Amino acid sequence: MESTNAFTNALAQLTKAAAVIKLEPAMYQRLALPQRFLAVAIPVTMDDGSVRVFHGFRSQYNNARGPFKGGIRFHPAVSEDEVKALSLWMTMKCAVVGLPLGGGKGGIIVNPKELSTGELERLSRGYIRALYRYLGPDQDVPAPDVYTTPQIMAWILDEYEHLVGHHAPGLITGKPLAIGGSAGRGTATAQGGFFVLDEAMKKMGKKVAGTTVAVQGFGNAGSNMVDLLAAHGYKVVAISDSRGGVYHEAGIDSKQLQELKNNGMSLESYCSGKAGACRAITNQELLELPVDVLVPAALENQITAENAPRIKASLVLELANGPTTPEADEILFTNGTKVVPDILANAGGVTVSYFEQVQNAANYYWPEAEVMSKLKAIMVESCSAVWKVQEEHNITLRTAAHVVALRRVTEAMAVRGI
Ligand code: GLU
Repeated sequence: MESTNAFTNALAQLTKAAAVIKLEPAMYQRLALPQRFLAVAIPVTMDDGSVRVFHGFRSQYNNARGPFKGGIRFHPAVSEDEVKALSLWMTMKCAVVGLPLGGGKGGIIVNPKELSTGELERLSRGYIRALYRYLGPDQDVPAPDVYTTPQIMAWILDEYEHLVGHHAPGLITGKPLAIGGSAGRGTATAQGGFFVLDEAMKKMGKKVAGTTVAVQGFGNAGSNMVDLLAAHGYKVVAISDSRGGVYHEAGIDSKQLQELKNNGMSLESYCSGKAGACRAITNQELLELPVDVLVPAALENQITAENAPRIKASLVLELANGPTTPEADEILFTNGTKVVPDILANAGGVTVSYFEQVQNAANYYWPEAEVMSKLKAIMVESCSAVWKVQEEHNITLRTAAHVVALRRVTEAMAVRGI
């Protein structure tokens, strides 16, 4: 039976890379567990006066290269193992793009769509009250992830600064610009993915004109990616959100789709009055469409051993974390599909988070063009380094990315003596 436990799958990826570099067993054992895992109960007074207690987590996976770094997820499917997996991936992600940061991740088991703004604020403040001793600009630096926003980062920072009694903008990234956010952070995950896609297309000898794309997920990463693709001549023919999606052969007008979503309408209502083939599709159908590029930008375990044989795209760009299972990876590799892995493809977000920290520390802020040119240089260079390792060893791009990252993480561990 195929595993959908994200931590089991993350360790399987680590194991493959460890074999390529013949990693010492003690190093492997150290990397197979988070350095510290925190679990907290967060009582929140709800608007009706009742109290609900939420489960919150922070996994501090590895800090050999720098402070733990990684987002906080608010989602009903959050679990201890999911948070551990995401924090292992953050460790590898920061290393593959060469950031002087370790890896961490947080989460709360909650469906934020069911909370009022006031309840969400009290939950966010409760999370940092429970954990603030373990976080800080030089210890562990959170950021947004699935269903968390710049506003949530602002509440967390404000609560933290009240607790410690001084300004500390470097505590958290993905903040609103008004309190020390970085220009370009909002679109950074998609933008970084786009730079990597451009580079991958060149390496594969593919032309952009006429290239069709399906994007699963219409959150921060997915919706910004759709805009970038459309602006650069790609034809986005399918988009979905958690409720389902839409396929339009002629190419989807993303602005119109965003308006529908903002008005609380389902994506499929987009088709009314459209010329050419246009229909509602499920998230599963989207993955199997006859497109050139597939962009999973939602959650884990979307491409599995079950549907991988039917994936038709020749290039998969993982903007989500962990969308492909290890078994599916093998199938796609055998079929010649290139999978640009999450830890490379979506590293633009944490890269601009790093720039945000640097700007906070200097209290000096860069124009967006400077952020973007620095981001581009890092993404293009990292993509080339991973591509080279993949060719040298004839391995998947994922294993190659983990090899690049693992070499860097274990070098830092070795010189520290752990
Ligand atoms: N949550 C994002 C990720 O998975 C960003 C993390 C960060 O900026 O620290 O990469």
